[in-house]
Amino acid sequence: MRFKPSFAGLMTCVMLMTSTGCVVSNSRSSSTTGEVKVEPLRMSNRVFIEGTSVEDRSILCEEFVVGSDSTAMPPMRTVLIFAGIHGNETTTTPVADRLIELLKAEPGVLEGWRGRVLVISLANPDGMTRKRRTNARGVDLNRNFPATNWKQTPRGLFWNGPGPLSEPESKLLHDLVLREKPVRILSIHSISRGRHGVNFDGPAKALAGAMAQENGYKVLQTMGYATPGSFGSWAGIDLSIPTITLELIASEPAEAAWKTNRNAIVRFIRFE
Ligand SMILES: [Zn+2]
Repeated sequence: MRFKPSFAGLMTCVMLMTSTGCVVSNSRSSSTTGEVKVEPLRMSNRVFIEGTSVEDRSILCEEFVVGSDSTAMPPMRTVLIFAGIHGNETTTTPVADRLIELLKAEPGVLEGWRGRVLVISLANPDGMTRKRRTNARGVDLNRNFPATNWKQTPRGLFWNGPGPLSEPESKLLHDLVLREKPVRILSIHSISRGRHGVNFDGPAKALAGAMAQENGYKVLQTMGYATPGSFGSWAGIDLSIPTITLELIASEPAEAAWKTNRNAIVRFIRFE
């Protein structure tokens, strides 16, 4: 079913901006007496420094908490989204930043959903500064995870480093996943046109299919080449966390990539 974000609630909402976020009164539910009770869509937002890169650049994590965290409710589930792990994939970080802007400006897109969204829009700041794939030490961070398929590869564009988690940037993501236990993960990359698509690892085929309905991309069971030590191999296959690798079209401007993928990314967050 195609997800259509409802903005109707926002038309009449009362938004109270605070230093930590906002409360939006736009969610309706029926009480047992049959009258419609307005319940607030609560969204709080903060940004924190999750860690630093080899060259001491901050790696920021934006957190959105959507819905009340009452003890009467089931535990709040977390979804994780990150971009910019390959520093030459320059459209991925602006797309993640646009998501952050969207959630701040239009929290109603998550109306009816409850959970936490963590967004790291730039996972490899040293690489992005150089506009190159690897980190400052020349390691392909997306080959540096302790997946069972990790194996030593020669120095070069896909060098996986001296050992799994040798790099602070991959260690940071690894520790974040183990600490926050996200129920699904979206990793945003880019690739040449024609090879783009919604790639998945682990139990994420239906999730990939739902996203593909929104962006019109192909679902890719494999990228067609081996990725030993990749994030998807570790989190998706080894840990069985539904993991999507969204491959944008590298040559496309970030604004066009965002327009194409906005609803797919919102669908990723809301997927049940
Ligand atoms: Zn990539």
